[in-house]
Amino acid sequence: MKQVATAHGSETPPTSTAIVSCSAACPMCGLVGTQYRLNPRQFWHTHRDVDLQPSGYQFRAGAQGVHPPLLAMWHCTGCRFTAESADFQAPLKGVLIRLDSVASWVKEAASTEAAFRVTLEKLGEGIQLASLNFYQAMKLHLLALRIWDFIGSRVKQDYLTQAKYSMLLAWLYRDMGTVDGARPQTAAQLDRLIAELRGVWPALPATEEAALRQAIGYYEASLAITTFSKDPMNEVSALQRIGRIQIKLAEWGRARENLRRSTMQARAAATEIRQQLAVRGNQAGRVEVTGSAREELVDRERRLLAFVDDEQRLSDLIREQQA
Ligand SMILES: [Zn+2]
Repeated sequence: MKQVATAHGSETPPTSTAIVSCSAACPMCGLVGTQYRLNPRQFWHTHRDVDLQPSGYQFRAGAQGVHPPLLAMWHCTGCRFTAESADFQAPLKGVLIRLDSVASWVKEAASTEAAFRVTLEKLGEGIQLASLNFYQAMKLHLLALRIWDFIGSRVKQDYLTQAKYSMLLAWLYRDMGTVDGARPQTAAQLDRLIAELRGVWPALPATEEAALRQAIGYYEASLAITTFSKDPMNEVSALQRIGRIQIKLAEWGRARENLRRSTMQARAAATEIRQQLAVRGNQAGRVEVTGSAREELVDRERRLLAFVDDEQRLSDLIREQQA
């Protein structure tokens, strides 16, 4: 592996172990291609922003100069399908629609819907997976968001995937301002591209803020799905994520309200679990929970209380920011 994805171009090749390549079949069109990822043993992060963006990357010798998020996406050079490696290998996990139906919708839209086709073509132009730069990584993040946006609009079961791709895009916009050399290398081309895409993709989030707001919209859409919000853990987590983004957007009142709702749900769900755990033998129609089911409940209670702790810290943060 000679090339490397850096914010500066490709001048500092890492050792052969920093970037791992593998062969993978596209889940949409079946084309087999080479995909790349950064060896997870070669880097780690030391910090997370309030909206959970990892930062403070540390590297073992050999992986320096690579900005890990640039290698987040796998991409099919045939049909342009783009996704994080896990979604590329197993898309729509847990969604009750056959993958081949989704694949045929994507294929059909890419040939019959001109706006969708042009968007995929423009974003897929000139992608060199073996030597990605910041601009190309931005294009892949936009491509992933557009494709999952399309899939989500048909599947209507999983808005969290779109929320995730909106967040990843927002974070890459943010990185443009912090990663050395990223903005000069990227901004002018990106602005031109975005201007060209306006007509075919009006909802394209062209700034970090727009991408964050889109993510909030997707989390809210998830909460509106009954099967999703029926599980308090999902609801607690989505509300907290919305609150975290709103802190980033300095929307203190809204953030506080969503964190308050999240804490309330978390406390109620934890209380319910404690009551279940307190049942011994057979009491008033309730049966003692034992074995692995009990362990699972204990773990859920622990996770719910961790959300409550997080929310306490986030509320303190809001107070500090407003002081
Ligand atoms: Zn493909």
